[in-house]
Amino acid sequence: MTAQLIDGTRIARELRVRVAEDVARLKESTGIVPGLATVLVGDDPASEVYVRNKRRLAVEAGIADLHRHLDGDATQEAVAAVIHELASDDSVSGILLQLPLPKHLDSGPLIDLIPAVKDVDGLTTLSAGLLARGKPGLRPCTPSGVITLIDSTGVSLEGANAVVIGRSELVGGPMGRLLLERNATVTTAHSRTRDLVDVASRADVLIAAAGRPGLIGAEHVMPGAVVIDVGIHRTDSGLTGDVRFDEVLDRAGWITPVPGGVGPLTIATLLANTAAAARMQAELRGLLTP
Ligand code: NAD
Repeated sequence: MTAQLIDGTRIARELRVRVAEDVARLKESTGIVPGLATVLVGDDPASEVYVRNKRRLAVEAGIADLHRHLDGDATQEAVAAVIHELASDDSVSGILLQLPLPKHLDSGPLIDLIPAVKDVDGLTTLSAGLLARGKPGLRPCTPSGVITLIDSTGVSLEGANAVVIGRSELVGGPMGRLLLERNATVTTAHSRTRDLVDVASRADVLIAAAGRPGLIGAEHVMPGAVVIDVGIHRTDSGLTGDVRFDEVLDRAGWITPVPGGVGPLTIATLLANTAAAARMQAELRGLLTP
């Protein structure tokens, strides 16, 4: 068996087209142009690339680019002041604090300064609580993008065995909750899991988000399973994921490549969240009826 490729690049492009249409409709009905404030502290090269891509694709979708760049030695108070300013600025629909921050900064309290209605990365404690309670809110981009990729296969999550490898606040944790919301039977594996092969190989849908290059091989994969590789690792020969792609290709039913899988969906979902945030704020200001 050779797995079918899940083409994240195409699926993300289609989502961005829908976002651009939504942005144009919002502008026509309310005059509001959604604005995305990416906040980059310092000059980490990988973060600079991510932020540049987010800004470019935001503009392509009709979203205003309200980027802010702070020096790498900016204090906690200086970053907090910028977030406060963006939080009270009506032209800013969404705020994204690019992670990781320089080591002297404490990211948790800074993220929590972002109001839930502008939390387009879905990472504040309040957004996490809304997700945990199954209440409406902005969801984290990478796990939401993974759900979009799984849906594109036509494989139903209802009652399916879904195994998530990783339990971080950014990916694995919210991933499990989004899968539960879709009525999957969810197992979360992590670094202390005793027998990863046994746990992973029961999955109808396997999501690898351990941040360990090549951790997942054919022995971890049930024949025909949907395999989503969230991992991104820079090597001398280019980007690779947590999954040994060539090996798993002959065993899985569906698989995402790296690059061209989850990454493009993360950005497209950020843009979708920004449009949704602008809509929510217009409703709160009485400019739109829900
Ligand atoms: P993290 O380091 O915060 O968390 C890793 C998780 O994996 C932890 O919960 C840990 O317990 C678990 N883990 C580690 N080693 C394990 C092992 N051997 N067996 C089982 N579980 C293990 O990382 P993160 O922020 O969640 O990111 C995970 C990966 O996803 C990274 O490679 C990151 O670069 C990538 N990522 C990709 C995107 C994207 O858009 N494609 C977005 C975010 C993160």
